[in-house]
Amino acid sequence: MNDVLPEEIGRWQRVEHVYARTLSLNGFREVRTPYVEPTALFVRAIGETTDVVEKEMYSFDHHDDALTLRPEGTAGAARAYIEHGVQAREPVTRWWYAGPMFRAERPQRGRYRQFHQLGAEVFGDGGPGCDAEMIDMLVSLLVELRVPDVEVFLNSLGGPGTRALHREALVSYLTPRAASLSPYSQLRLQTNPLRILDSKDPRDQEVVLGAPSIHDFLDAGDREHFARLREYLDALHTPYTVDARLVRGLDYYTRTLFEIKGAHDKLGAGSTLVGGGRYDSMVAGLGGPDVPAIGFAAGLERLLIASEITAPSKGIDALVAPIGLAAVGSGLELARDLRRGGIRCEVDTRGSSLKGQLRRANALGARIVLILGESELADGVVQVKDLEAHLQERMARGEAVRVVLDRLVAASRSVDSRMPT
Ligand code: AMP
Repeated sequence: MNDVLPEEIGRWQRVEHVYARTLSLNGFREVRTPYVEPTALFVRAIGETTDVVEKEMYSFDHHDDALTLRPEGTAGAARAYIEHGVQAREPVTRWWYAGPMFRAERPQRGRYRQFHQLGAEVFGDGGPGCDAEMIDMLVSLLVELRVPDVEVFLNSLGGPGTRALHREALVSYLTPRAASLSPYSQLRLQTNPLRILDSKDPRDQEVVLGAPSIHDFLDAGDREHFARLREYLDALHTPYTVDARLVRGLDYYTRTLFEIKGAHDKLGAGSTLVGGGRYDSMVAGLGGPDVPAIGFAAGLERLLIASEITAPSKGIDALVAPIGLAAVGSGLELARDLRRGGIRCEVDTRGSSLKGQLRRANALGARIVLILGESELADGVVQVKDLEAHLQERMARGEAVRVVLDRLVAASRSVDSRMPT
């Protein structure tokens, strides 16, 4: 679990800002659900035999409640959707979220125990157009975040019936070959054979080469859905690679499944930036209405490793410099006026020397210094010093806000440029 210090936060905020804007442009609204939910919710939604539920959840008992720090966002969003009867009010619901998730994993670069996900869910639209739109939105988002080498991997797992048939065929194929599998996959053979397909262990990879493909078991509806999704992506010119072995770690997926990778040189080829897919049976499985759904989650820390965006300019625009303690009161008032005008500023309330204050202005990245010495105080004026243009003007204090704003705008450090874009 990591601290994020102010030096790093600029890039975080920039990514969060671009994310919120993109999702809003696509009609999604933000939802905030609790960080803690009943353990049973995750077990039911994610699946008892998944790595997340078996090994990675931070669970604890409190009096009679069995609780868990949320390891992902979809289960909580689905619970909230059901609990608030959202389906009765709107046929299609588009929600996004951002926040910390908790998994007791072995930490390494891009894998942490508290990490942050940017995610979204669509409830109530079961069509392949919705899947294509989501994938295309994510590719645009990653391009806007300047992530190089973005690649989409796509698969269809079919519905529950398809998966049961495939599972049977997979177990029949793998059982006589069990001795060649890794010890972990030998255990998985009984509980979650599908996961053996995406094992990274070379022993498993060799065995699964000839395993039956899920694509041979898709029913007509699944096949139609997948074909139309591909058509839509082709029409959007959004490239993708079909990977029949893509299964992902959470049990709830049906039909469409996707992963997006990028910036291999920084993250390594195995590291996924975004994972998502359909979960058409989950809401009903949790006791809600029978609505189809699709969602994704992107790892914020991984996006920050992969993205080439830079931090916005740090620091402040102006330093108010009262020379001597007698000028501090006027300095505070002037700083308040500047802030009301949208100018980021600090006041040196220690009454330091002019030399010390100029040094401080440099360290803080302030372009303008507003000097209030004894004579300025007596005359009700201020010296406005532009450190970059090497100019100094004496003016009435009431004029200072407008002059400083003009100087900042002229230097294209407009008031708005401090907002991440
Ligand atoms: P998942 O919820 O497992 O489908 O993961 C979705 C995305 O969240 C992944 O592609 C990663 O970018 C990110 N992610 C998952 N687990 C971690 C973790 N332990 N540390 C950092 N990011 C993670």
